[in-house]
Amino acid sequence: MAKKLYIETVGCQMNVLDSELVVGSLRRHGYQLIHDPMEADVILFNTCSVRQHAEDKIYSALGKLRGHKQRHPSKIVGVLGCMAQKDQELVRRRAPHVDIVCGTGQLARLHELIEEVERTGKPQLALSLDRKGASRPEVERSFESYDPLRDPSMRPSRFQAYVRIMIGCDKFCTYCIVPQVRGPEQSRHPEQIAAEVRQLADEGCKEVTLLGQTVNSYKYDLGDGRRCHLSDLLARIYDTAGVERIKFITNFPRDMSDDLLDAVRELPKVSPYLHVPAQSGCNDVLKRMKRVYTVEYYREMLARCRERVPGVSVSSDFIVGFCGETEESFQRTCDLVASAGFKNSYIFKYSPRPGTKGDELFADDISEEVKKRRNNDLLAIQNKVSLADHQKRVGETVEVLVEGPSKTALKQHQASGPIQLTGRTPTDHIVVFEGNERLAGRTVQVAIEEATAFTLFGTVVTRESIGVAMPRGPVPEPPHERTSGETHRISLPLLMA
Ligand code: SAM
Ligand code: SF4
Repeated sequence: MAKKLYIETVGCQMNVLDSELVVGSLRRHGYQLIHDPMEADVILFNTCSVRQHAEDKIYSALGKLRGHKQRHPSKIVGVLGCMAQKDQELVRRRAPHVDIVCGTGQLARLHELIEEVERTGKPQLALSLDRKGASRPEVERSFESYDPLRDPSMRPSRFQAYVRIMIGCDKFCTYCIVPQVRGPEQSRHPEQIAAEVRQLADEGCKEVTLLGQTVNSYKYDLGDGRRCHLSDLLARIYDTAGVERIKFITNFPRDMSDDLLDAVRELPKVSPYLHVPAQSGCNDVLKRMKRVYTVEYYREMLARCRERVPGVSVSSDFIVGFCGETEESFQRTCDLVASAGFKNSYIFKYSPRPGTKGDELFADDISEEVKKRRNNDLLAIQNKVSLADHQKRVGETVEVLVEGPSKTALKQHQASGPIQLTGRTPTDHIVVFEGNERLAGRTVQVAIEEATAFTLFGTVVTRESIGVAMPRGPVPEPPHERTSGETHRISLPLLMA
């Protein structure tokens, strides 16, 4: 009988992709994915350590499993990913019923670790080397890029897929734990990436999103003196038959080169959408964050993006309440958000991360109350800007790649007839409209009639139009793509309860 597997995922797109690959690989070993943790033989948590809140969720979910594991000692509980790499033995000290602790760079060993627990009954730890504890080549080798064969049935949507083009990060922003838990920056060979994109396209995938912590820093030395940059990679995969859209996230402001912007402009399948986190609008704060640019540089970069890629949409991330952020510093961030015209911004309250320079050097001196207030204030400014950005599109007809039923439609479980669908424009704007579910995966033209800060509403104007007026029901929370620290799709009761 097939063994049953249950997995919950917290964190960014990299984690969503890792979970997809873990599930695909365990299925090849005969596992069946189920949605009830209590019925599973193997219960996995793919974790995030970017903010404390994400870690707290995991420890709380593990706590809920303690009694279950005592009653069923043969069941295997595993903690994977960033928190596993960061906390190492601490995971087992806090949750002794955990059988497997497996870091981001060791996921290829997961099946072997499960077998080892089954055979010996002993806990298994698989971790990469500490960045300070060995030479760079040794540390690099210990963070293996995890790119096994894809399993199409495991993707959130048949038409969309993430493709990892690099792992790790070498920027060492002082607040961020990613360079420690995901290791040194290492780019994948362009031919390996091209082969993966081809395979995905052959399986019906129409949109690929290239992933990297600083995706525009991608560089691969081809060994003959030539170097492949992201612009070259885009050109390399551009002609893949079947692929209609190519996106890439996340960009680092200093690495936004003109050749990349020119590639985005010249290659129509590449989405004119750039996620380029600014983090703060105050030079003192940026300096303490070690972001290696000033706000003037960021504004100039933004102007360059808009000049070289007409119509481009840009989104950002901000951290509020970073060490030493005065009201005046915060005001500068508000000014940047009010004037930069971001499509949307993800705003986070600073969470000190042990193991980072920020935690070592600076006191976390902004109270939770102030962080919360600044978060809300900045969000309110961004929402106004987003609304203006969305309203500009009312009256336009936009191209939408249909993703499927909206969250509202999924809740309604309608048996037949037109339902509320959702999709995105090439500029990453979310569009909600009415149509038949069979439109999923198709590209349609939608006339935009209304807008909120998060969503455009319209009517399909292509032949597939079914001409039904759409009730403007409330659309729940914005289904934005960037969700660091949130719980993801293959995730159910334990983290949510
Ligand atoms: N590599 C990407 C980048 O440079 O933007 C994303 C890294 S991180 C997973 C995503 C976002 O989380 C960052 O852009 C930053 O805004 C936020 N973040 C990272 N560390 C944080 C911390 N210690 N506290 C609060 N937010 C944090
Ligand atoms: Fe973290 Fe900075 Fe690297 Fe992004 S660029 S992953 S924020 S260290």
